[in-house]
Amino acid sequence: MSTVNVKINNISYQFPKGLTILQACNQINIEVPTLCYLKEINEIGACRICVVEVKGAKNLVASCVHPLSEGMDILTHSEKVLKARKITLELILSTHDRSCLSCIRSDNCELQKLCHDFKVDDEAKYDGHNQVYKTDDSAIHMYRDDNKCILCRRCVAACSKLQSVGVIGVNERGFKTHIGCAFEEDLGKTDCVSCGQCIVVCPTGAIAEKDDTDKVWAALADESKHVIVATAPSIRVTLGEAFGMPVGTNVKGKMVTALKHLGFAGVYDTDIAADLTIIEESQELITRIQNGGPLPLITSCSPGWIKFCEHNFHDFIPNLSSCKSPQQMFGAVVKTWYAEKNNLDPHDIVVVSVMPCTAKKFEARRDNQSAAGVYDIDIAITTRELARMIKRAGIQFKKLADTDFDDPLGVSTGAGAIFGATGGVMEAALRTAVEKLTGQELTNLDFTEVRGTKEIKEATYKVGDLEVNVAVTSGLANARQLLNEIREGKKTYHFIEIMGCPGGCINGGGQPVQPASVRNFVDLKTERAKALYEEDKNLPLRKSHESPVIKTLYEEYFGEPGSHKAHKILHTTYKEREY
Ligand code: SF4
Ligand code: SF4
Ligand code: SF4
Repeated sequence: MSTVNVKINNISYQFPKGLTILQACNQINIEVPTLCYLKEINEIGACRICVVEVKGAKNLVASCVHPLSEGMDILTHSEKVLKARKITLELILSTHDRSCLSCIRSDNCELQKLCHDFKVDDEAKYDGHNQVYKTDDSAIHMYRDDNKCILCRRCVAACSKLQSVGVIGVNERGFKTHIGCAFEEDLGKTDCVSCGQCIVVCPTGAIAEKDDTDKVWAALADESKHVIVATAPSIRVTLGEAFGMPVGTNVKGKMVTALKHLGFAGVYDTDIAADLTIIEESQELITRIQNGGPLPLITSCSPGWIKFCEHNFHDFIPNLSSCKSPQQMFGAVVKTWYAEKNNLDPHDIVVVSVMPCTAKKFEARRDNQSAAGVYDIDIAITTRELARMIKRAGIQFKKLADTDFDDPLGVSTGAGAIFGATGGVMEAALRTAVEKLTGQELTNLDFTEVRGTKEIKEATYKVGDLEVNVAVTSGLANARQLLNEIREGKKTYHFIEIMGCPGGCINGGGQPVQPASVRNFVDLKTERAKALYEEDKNLPLRKSHESPVIKTLYEEYFGEPGSHKAHKILHTTYKEREY
């Protein structure tokens, strides 16, 4: 491999050829601050915060796009560099709505932190006439406030590059430049799939989820209501980040304790509903394979993916599994079986779900998601909103003791746990489908070919007499590629897992926002997924069909997987969609 010899801050180094200055600095643990740059997402050299001095060069250079070359002598924090960065921040602030005190990002805003680090002591230094923008709150899951936007374009890159949705972009030019939808349309009237990937990359409070925590506080204060909560598989491995814990820490026990302190009448695990999804979906796969289709069967747990399909791939709607997602199955079971068992009127039950995903807010209000004539899920909040509630309640999260989920909906299996990572639904389904089709117990439960963050994963498994071709992908740009290849007849599969967010739910749009100073160094998707696979390995039950709760549900209520009653309560429909 050819190399280059350079000096950084007067120390000599050798790096492989082809790196940018920023990448080289990161390799030796020098953090050059960035605002527009975000590893693997946005590399446009626009904000000028990452400038460094190259001795002999006339001007400072943007390190995120400037290539390293032989003999370079680089200073990352010379007087000239620090002064330039400070002036850039002062200029950004001149057009910024600086209402930090009430801003949703006040505890982890990248702009605020940089202003603090660079001692920007005169926020109003370059104040003058400013554009004033109306907040776009037309979408059910999020709002956009251009008055807090610094035009870094990370959201635009996430929406178009990662998700191939492209509903937000740069409108107008010069002083009037701002982020918006085409023809200044409201976001709620576009093909936006509610994934929230724009939110988790935004460095400021310009884009955020709609906060539904007040609805939860109100329900908890209403004594006529039976308020329960369930947490999605991935929340246990991400919530800790909101309290400064390392990426990939499993905080299941503390999370359950915190939820009990908040006052919920029952603290349950959505893993149960993930297991239920697997039972129904494996049955659907077997039935479709035996009855000639339609195949491939495509998973339906990810509401961002479902909305994307309804907008862009209508011809694949018959391929979608009719199973409700785990969030919705959980609510449906609570409003029917659980209500009957506890002699409760479904109208008096409030089901709160804690989800990794802003699209879950959209999903909870879709048609055909009301098994008992009332919404299956009353309030869907994100990991970030739960963290906010815990903080507001003064709960010292890191010091909490561990407790277990409540009965009867608190049993987790490894299969349910891995739902949170790309490939997890496929692996969980295979564990059940293979045993059902062959009648034999699996000796190895790890389907490692479908794990990991590769864009499109493919495998063929021998199941009895059948050869089953599967594919797994996450991130909607990858999904688009896969579906186009199927349309063109280049690929044929029996079963496909698609997750809307790259890496799956662990990297969902409702997860804790990590700044560039973390994302440029740590692979969030890999570290968070590792914690889920660790959980799977250590659980005594690793197959959905072995869960005692699942057995009870079928014995007491649903009869057989795929029964008429199961279909009525646990399945749904999809439609071509304008917005
Ligand atoms: S976006 Fe950041 S700098 Fe702007 S008001 Fe919010 S916290 Fe303050
Ligand atoms: S939520 Fe997703 S689809 Fe909608 S604007 Fe953001 S990135 Fe684009
Ligand atoms: S909305 Fe956020 S991510 Fe998008 S350009 Fe503005 S500051 Fe950057």
